[in-house]
Amino acid sequence: MNYYGGYVNRLIDEFAKLPGIGAKSAARLAFYVIHQPPERANALAAAISEAKNNIRFCSVCCNLTDSDPCFVCAGAKRDHGTILVVETPQDMAAYEKTGEYHGAYHVLHGAISPMNGVSPKDLRIKELLARLNEENINELIFATNPTAEGEATAMYLGRLIKPLGIPVKITRIAHGVPVGADIEYVDSVTLGKALFFRREF
Ligand SMILES: [Zn+2]
Repeated sequence: MNYYGGYVNRLIDEFAKLPGIGAKSAARLAFYVIHQPPERANALAAAISEAKNNIRFCSVCCNLTDSDPCFVCAGAKRDHGTILVVETPQDMAAYEKTGEYHGAYHVLHGAISPMNGVSPKDLRIKELLARLNEENINELIFATNPTAEGEATAMYLGRLIKPLGIPVKITRIAHGVPVGADIEYVDSVTLGKALFFRREF
């Protein structure tokens, strides 16, 4: 469509590439930005490029962070012998919000999903295995989503790690988190309980 000119169309096209944004929403966002004062639009552009340029992966837990190691891995009061394995940084934030967990994390950045073309090599599994070999880990808690993909990922990790003979207790978060739920959106009480009542995996 050439109704608006190249720059407008380019902006609409970029918004339309974002997840969950259809053509209508993309146009609405583009026109919203265009109608903003220059400093607001520039602040948005700067926030995007500075986030992209400055955020990196924690070299320990693979969380997204401004400084390496991240605040959890650098935390002196954390129990670094317990690792909660989560799918995304948002899930990690959800567990932090419960206030029930004081250990470390490992962020996989996804879950195994053959339908979406996500295989184990796309996840931060190699980094997790390295930690098991190099750090003194007492317990590994699989806290992936209670979805088909999350369960498949926990199962895969269990089958991968158990035969290695590393003396580590492996647990899976308990039910309490509704089946099919997205951990990011589960309330803190439910999530805290699920963590507390975790079972041997
Ligand atoms: Zn970290």
